[in-house]
Amino acid sequence: MNRKIAIVTGGNSGLGFATAKNFCEQGIITYIIGRSKEKTAQAICELGENARALICDLNDLKAIPKLVEAIKEEAGRIDILVNNAGINMKKDFLEVTDEEFGNILHTNVSSVFSISREVVKVMKEQGGGSIVNISSMAAQYGIPKVIAYTASKTAIEGMTRSMAVDLAQYGIRVNCIAPGFIETPMSAKALNDDPERKSRVMARTPMKKLGCPEDVANAVNYLVQEGSKYTTGVILPIDGGNSIGF
Ligand code: NDP
Repeated sequence: MNRKIAIVTGGNSGLGFATAKNFCEQGIITYIIGRSKEKTAQAICELGENARALICDLNDLKAIPKLVEAIKEEAGRIDILVNNAGINMKKDFLEVTDEEFGNILHTNVSSVFSISREVVKVMKEQGGGSIVNISSMAAQYGIPKVIAYTASKTAIEGMTRSMAVDLAQYGIRVNCIAPGFIETPMSAKALNDDPERKSRVMARTPMKKLGCPEDVANAVNYLVQEGSKYTTGVILPIDGGNSIGF
């Protein structure tokens, strides 16, 4: 049996962990990439025998080709890439330094481009594959004090469309999930910094509840499977209706 091979960046936490768990439970060999050795080791224990760990700071763009090559060497192919790793920073517009703005764009956008390019080389050679990028509802409308994050997630949505158009000829589909407020360590920090945020989000969410990581993992799974084989370039909100503008 040819088992599928997946890469999930940021697979040791939150949405990435739930996505990796969903894949591993289906027998997909899943490489999770994170910076923290401790968190990644813990995640691997919980994910079981189909999970593989790679420690890498994706900000180090020079390390990415070797990382992808190592996966190809070991696994022989790469069927799925989920560009999930991301960082956020909440700060007044006038306080954000050029360096901070650049750091967020580097992690959330440049590393996504670099790893995608390297994985696409492998997918092109093998005749196809599927990529899912993780954006945010921050790309849909203004959220206070997250200028760099918003810029980065808007870029991800544009990149998704551009990649979908450029890569369809190689049998590679590229789609994007735009999560609303999902309970993870990242959103817990956002709520901690701004305790009234939850009630503001609820006020414009028709379903009146936060999402859970599995909601996003299920949607990612749909977008990488045969059932969505005629779908590319979509931005799929998973947000309890938040983006409708209720
Ligand atoms: P978490 O903070 O729980 O997880 C972030 C993951 O990214 C961690 O595994 C982290 O690993 C990894 N990561 C961050 N920077 C790097 C880096 N430089 N190199 C390698 N890995 C890195 O976040 P969530 O699960 O909440 O978010 C996942 C994605 O979903 C993000 O892109 C986020 O923007 C997006 N999102 C989340 C929403 C939510 O409500 N939770 C809403 C909308 C979008 P490590 O710590 O080991 O570096």
